[in-house]
Amino acid sequence: MEKVYEDPDIGTVVFRKNRRSRRITLRVSPRRGVTVSMPWIVPYKTAFNFFLAKRQWVLETIDRQSEKFKDEPVPTPLEIEAMRAEAKRVLPARLSELAKKYSFEYNQVRIKHNVSNWGSCSRKGNINLNLNLVRVPENLRDYVILHELCHLRHPNHGPEFHALLESLCPRHRLKEKELRKYRLI
Ligand SMILES: [Zn+2]
Repeated sequence: MEKVYEDPDIGTVVFRKNRRSRRITLRVSPRRGVTVSMPWIVPYKTAFNFFLAKRQWVLETIDRQSEKFKDEPVPTPLEIEAMRAEAKRVLPARLSELAKKYSFEYNQVRIKHNVSNWGSCSRKGNINLNLNLVRVPENLRDYVILHELCHLRHPNHGPEFHALLESLCPRHRLKEKELRKYRLI
């Protein structure tokens, strides 16, 4: 059981009920984004308030995680808009192509700009792709798209998810590692 919240600065925050959780925990990962795990009996509202109380910490953690890239130039708003235009031109088309090729059906696709995740897939089958994907090599871009498509069948990162992804995108764990060399800007 999970709920997704779209934070304007952080991007997707996943609230997940977990049978093994004994308390509310908050995790920030460069690839998997921000996740709040909570025991089954805790209401989502309580976990959401917990997240709000730590929101500043989350933003700082994301900053710290990308600190190793701090000497890279920051893009101007004009550059971001150019990336967005390029993203809208190429990403939905590639998503549609890969979905057809492997018989996936998604609902809507949106191009997003945030610094926490390369992509996400909602329970309703909506896929978000980060406009930063236009800055990475095509094989890594395809990896992210296939990763999100596989979430349509497995909305988690369990063994079945990884087996499916590996069958469509060989050596996907290596690609995930390579992707970490790129910073979300
Ligand atoms: Zn995922």
